[in-house]
Amino acid sequence: MTDLARWLDSNSTVLVQAVVEKLSQNEAQKAQVIETVASFFESLIESVRHGDSAALNDRLSRWVEGRSAPTEGELTRLVPVLISIKQVNAEQIRLLCEPAQAVDLLIALDVVYDRAINYLSQLESDALLADMRDQLQQAQQQLERLDKSKSDFIAVAAHELRTPITLVEGYANMVLDARPDLKQDEGAMALFEGMTSGVKRLREIIRDMLDVSLITLDMIELHAQPTWLNQIIDAASHSVESPLRERRMKLRIEHETIPKRATYADPERLVQVLNKILMNAIKYTPDGGEVIVQARELTGFVDVMVIDNGIGISPNDLSHIFGMFSTVGDASLHSSGKSKFRGGGPGLGLYISKGIIEAHGGNIWAESAGYDELNLPGSTFHIMIPMRNAPQGDNLSAIIMKTDKEVT
Ligand code: ADP
Repeated sequence: MTDLARWLDSNSTVLVQAVVEKLSQNEAQKAQVIETVASFFESLIESVRHGDSAALNDRLSRWVEGRSAPTEGELTRLVPVLISIKQVNAEQIRLLCEPAQAVDLLIALDVVYDRAINYLSQLESDALLADMRDQLQQAQQQLERLDKSKSDFIAVAAHELRTPITLVEGYANMVLDARPDLKQDEGAMALFEGMTSGVKRLREIIRDMLDVSLITLDMIELHAQPTWLNQIIDAASHSVESPLRERRMKLRIEHETIPKRATYADPERLVQVLNKILMNAIKYTPDGGEVIVQARELTGFVDVMVIDNGIGISPNDLSHIFGMFSTVGDASLHSSGKSKFRGGGPGLGLYISKGIIEAHGGNIWAESAGYDELNLPGSTFHIMIPMRNAPQGDNLSAIIMKTDKEVT
């Protein structure tokens, strides 16, 4: 048996008492810790006796497993407790031994305790990391549940809204069929047109809600075919002609920058994206403003840019406008109307655009110097569309296709 083991063994009662005194503030605490301290010294002596840390490490592992649960990320740290025990142990050696013996014992003690402290601090770091990982996982699961109930709600609401809208539309048409004389009545026709445009807008919102569900469930289907981007941009620009006119705005398409050859994409979905981005550019730019569409070719992609000279976007908002229900600012302050200045919608347009572009294997993001309704810094939306000569995932991409035909 080593000198240290022998000394610890014959002084264990004194040591336990001294450590208990140091660690406890009252009698009740002393009664609680005495057993833990006594078994610690038993393991320490066993380890020193066999020159093997196993018994002590085992004891320390049990300490870490049994430590109190973390409160708001704060764990009960055990390393300081072990350091206190070491200090008491060293004090007792200095107190009870001759200096020469004390030096030998203290050197041996240092080695044993340092190893134990290292082991314990590694255990504690691992446990802390595991706790943090658990907390993160729980937060993520909660977020996923929230996201799921959001998209479940959207899907149910969209389906439930379809029937009453069809009813409204049907009854309106029935009234006109039953009373053809109303077609001569200006007031009645204005009412009818108002209703029809309301129903049309509601249908668009429902379509958006269903698209959100498809995107969230990763179920969006693309009907890829040779697609010419200048045709897409022209089609989208036609769809915004009337809001441009109403808002006295100009749309400049820099055709010469748009690649002439085709890519494989879903043209209907791309027009939908371009329409949403253009409508936003109109909505968030004051009357009389200008929107520019230009493109630049990058390796394997074309970057279609929609540039406006509107109110811009603050750096904080740039990162979350592509999320679901991402309407920025107080929705109640938005003016009504789909294309009115700041006529905010439900905040689904960019989420859908991102879903569609990502399903194509592309990317979409926005740039802006900030939000400023006076100086109008404007925003630029980048839509990165892959240039493909075969449908996505098709191994036969080497097949020469008819798409090298150029369209102007
Ligand atoms: P919304 O239905 O609110 O227009 P979107 O998803 O289309 O929803 O856009 C989300 C938010 O991004 C908008 O509420 C708006 O604050 C901001 N945004 C989008 N496009 C622009 C733009 N061109 N200029 C300034 N802000 C924009």
